[in-house]
Amino acid sequence: MMPLEQAQTAILQAIRPVSGAETVALAQAHGRYCAEDLQAHVDHPGFDNSSMDGYAVNVGDARAHDWVLPVVGVSSCGDAPQMLAPGTAMRIYTGAPMPHGANAVAIQEDVQLQDGRARIPRTLEAGENLRCRGEDFRAGEVLYGAGRKLRATDIALLATAGAERLRVYRRPRVLVASTGNELVIPGHALAPGQIYESNGLTLAVHLRAAGAEVTDAGIVRDDVEALRALLARGKDYDFVITTGGASVGERDLVKQVFAEFGTLQLWKVRIKPGKPLAFGHIGERTHFFALPGNPVSTLVTYKLFIEPALAVWHHGEPQQWLLAATAVNSFRRQPGRTEFLRARLHAEQGRLKAEALHGQGSHMVGPLRDTNGFIRVEAESAGFAAGELVNVLPLGSW
Ligand code: AMP
Ligand code: MG
Repeated sequence: MMPLEQAQTAILQAIRPVSGAETVALAQAHGRYCAEDLQAHVDHPGFDNSSMDGYAVNVGDARAHDWVLPVVGVSSCGDAPQMLAPGTAMRIYTGAPMPHGANAVAIQEDVQLQDGRARIPRTLEAGENLRCRGEDFRAGEVLYGAGRKLRATDIALLATAGAERLRVYRRPRVLVASTGNELVIPGHALAPGQIYESNGLTLAVHLRAAGAEVTDAGIVRDDVEALRALLARGKDYDFVITTGGASVGERDLVKQVFAEFGTLQLWKVRIKPGKPLAFGHIGERTHFFALPGNPVSTLVTYKLFIEPALAVWHHGEPQQWLLAATAVNSFRRQPGRTEFLRARLHAEQGRLKAEALHGQGSHMVGPLRDTNGFIRVEAESAGFAAGELVNVLPLGSW
């Protein structure tokens, strides 16, 4: 059985990154990955402008006039830059262009106005309350490299930089199937021995949020022919993800049937839950993941393996952070596997706390209601006491 890190490394090294790209409008670029370096089209700021409402002056000139200047003209947002007449101040608003000849803005709260003349504070220095052209970025500067995932904050930056249409990698096509004779889609009555399917739905939700084009193959019976029909479709997808049927029972046929279509690279990882994970390829293009059927195992293995695999497929960096948190309760166990405990993370007086939720059996989904992270217990660890520091994997927007 492979240790977690080794399995993660092996899988990420075996990912065959996408080459196809498409052009999308900026408004559609959120969550996509840049397929080329993105450069700024313009300088930002595009012109020297005021950071405050006030009066634009030339400091040397103001000093020469004993800091009292007639107010001549106004610079408002959207105006083209004007000339500051020598020996005058100009009314100016936040974001409006600095007039030529001016080198500072006195903020209006500090200026006394009398008979159309402004008394400028003697402490004003050249450069005060200015935003200078290009101080944020310059036209032609590379703002993002290929493989960078575009977040909502990036859209603000790209719009400012004048980006309108961008090259992004195409979306991954993913085929999802839930194997198990016991499974029924919600909305149908359960016969004795049947349960509602949740893995396929959950995976589809996560995958779509990660930018994938998902085809849900629905429920596939534990039957060689049904699995063959499913995997025969695999070569048209970038990823095929099955859940269930991956362990060692007679009905766990996924691995066996997969061997007819592709090459298995890895099976079984020393983690809890999620041990019987399998990974391989079908042909040149398709990555195959068989996840264990317990809903919690599916979630954990999605987070640990598929989420980073999708980033690498897009030429991106997997972004998963372990954070230190104080354990709220204690947890004892036999060392052996790297374990992920469903946990409720919260902040108390600025400190991150992690409460291992009651009911850690991998069939227990009730605790998911309060789960917003996993506590990671290292393979050799026998657990932790309340008050000790533990590592947590936050689930972010899950
Ligand atoms: P398996 O990996 O097929 O041995 O399944 C492990 C456990 O997960 C069994 O209790 C299954 O009934 C359950 N299970 C498998 N697939 C699903 C699914 N899609 N939704 C909910 N439970 C499932
Ligand atoms: Mg099964």
